[in-house]
Amino acid sequence: MPDLTFDKLHEECGVFAIYGHPEAANLAYLGLYALQHRGQESAGIASSDGRKIHCIRKMGHVADIFTPDALNQLPGELAIGHTRYSTTGDTVILNAQPLSVACNKGQIAVAHNGNITNAAELRSELEREGSIFQATSDTEVVLHLVARSRERTLSAALRDALLQLEGAFSLVFIAEDRIIVARDPHGFRPLAMGQLELSDGRTSYVFASETCAFDLISAAYIGEVAPGEMVIVGPEGVTRERYTPAKAPAQCVFEHVYFSRPDSLVFGRSVAQSREMMGRLLAREYPVEADVVVPVPDSGVSAAIGYAAESNIPYQQALIRNHYVGRTFIEPSQAIRDFGVKLKLNPVRHLLEGKRVILVDDSLVRGTTSRKIVRMVRQAGAREVHLRISCPPTISPCYYGVDTPSQNELIAARHSVEGIRQYVEADSLGYLSLESLHKAVDDKNQRFCYACYTGQYPTPLVQIEDLAYSKC
Ligand code: AMP
Repeated sequence: MPDLTFDKLHEECGVFAIYGHPEAANLAYLGLYALQHRGQESAGIASSDGRKIHCIRKMGHVADIFTPDALNQLPGELAIGHTRYSTTGDTVILNAQPLSVACNKGQIAVAHNGNITNAAELRSELEREGSIFQATSDTEVVLHLVARSRERTLSAALRDALLQLEGAFSLVFIAEDRIIVARDPHGFRPLAMGQLELSDGRTSYVFASETCAFDLISAAYIGEVAPGEMVIVGPEGVTRERYTPAKAPAQCVFEHVYFSRPDSLVFGRSVAQSREMMGRLLAREYPVEADVVVPVPDSGVSAAIGYAAESNIPYQQALIRNHYVGRTFIEPSQAIRDFGVKLKLNPVRHLLEGKRVILVDDSLVRGTTSRKIVRMVRQAGAREVHLRISCPPTISPCYYGVDTPSQNELIAARHSVEGIRQYVEADSLGYLSLESLHKAVDDKNQRFCYACYTGQYPTPLVQIEDLAYSKC
C-alpha cells in the first residue's frame, strides 16, 4: 500500500465541444445542461467567431448562467463548455472554466475533466522560470505549457504540452478557427465523439464527457476519443492522431458505479446496463429473505432494479427525493437532527411499515449518510433493514478526478464490513465483490481502474505536500 499523504485535488467536471454549427453556443448550453450532474458549482462556455474567442464563466448552474442575453454574447460556429464541482476552499470564479489566454499561439481556451497528478511539480518549475499563475487549478498549467512551447503550430505545441502531463485528463481546446480535444494515454475519464448533419448538408462535430449530451441535441454517437489520441477539427476537416502511444488502460469504474447518468454510454458501454448487472450480481452474492427492494434515489435505482429482478422481490420507490435541494440551503437549526438527509429524502411510510427492507445504494464512502438513511427507513416502520452496496468497499482516495475524501475519512479503510454494519445500524450489509464488478462492466481485458477499491494506482503519484501549490 503506498503512502497516502498526497495533497488531493477534488474536481469533478463535465466537458463539451462543438465545431461547425451556426448555433454553437446554444448547443453547448444544451450539452452542458445534460452534463449538469458532473458539476454544479460553476459553468462556462467559450465560443469563437473565427477571429476572437468570447468566454462566459460564472458560479452557479448552467440554466441560471446562460440566459438568452448571455448566449447572444457567444457568437460563432465553434464552442467549448465546462461544468465544475470542487469541494475544497478554492471555489472561486478564477478556477471556473473554460480558462482562456492570448499567447504567441493565438487566443486559446481550455476545459478539463480529470486531475493532472504532476501539476504541482510542473507549476513550481514554471513559476521558477517566471510564469505567473492567476488561478489554483491544475488546468492553468496546461495553458502555460502550450504558451511556452517552442513549437510553432498550436497542435504541435499542444502535443508538446500533453506529453509532459501525468494523470487523468480529457481536455477540450478552442482556438480562433479550430477545436482540439485530447485524452490521457490511460483513458481515465471519458470523452465521446459525435456528429450532427446540418440542413445545408454540412457535418458538425461534437465531443462530450457523456452521450446524454448528444441525445439532447440529436447528435449521433460516433465512438470514443481513444486514450492517447488528439482530434483536431478545423477548416481542413477532421484529423485524428495518436500524440502518444496508449498506456495500460485505466477507465474509471466509478463512472459506471455512480458518477455518470444511466442513460449515457460511457467508454462505449451503457451505464444503466452496468448498474443493473451490479444489482443482479449483488443479489446472487448477498441474498436475503425480504419483502421489498428499495433504492436510495437516484444513485441506487438501476442497481436496485437489477437486485429486485434477480431476487424476485418486489421493487418499490419507498424513498422520495426532492430534486430541488440546492447546495446553499441554510439549515435553520442544528437542533433538527438529520436535517440534511430529511431535506433530500422522505420515506413512504405505507410501503415500509412492518416490512423487511433491502436498501440498495451505489456506494458507501464515509457512512454518515447511509446511517441516517437506515435510521429513516427504520423510523418509518421497517422491521429489518438490509443494506446492499453495488460496489466493493471504498478503501482509497481517487487522484484522477473523483471527489472522494482522504483515506482516514473512508470508513472501509479503517473498519471491517461487520464494523461498518454496526456503524450504519443495518441488520445486514453486503458489498459487491471486485470480481463481480469486473463482470458487471464486462471488463474482460482489464480496461478499468479500480484504485478506489484496491489502493493500486495505475500511475506513479508524487507527494506534493511540500510544494507551494494550493488545492483546487
Ligand atoms: P455516506 O454514507 O456518507 O458514505 O454517503 C454515501 C452516499 O454518497 C451514496 O448515496 C453515494 O451515492 C454518494 N456518493 C458517493 N460518492 C460520491 C461523490 N463522489 N460525490 C457525491 N456523492 C457521492
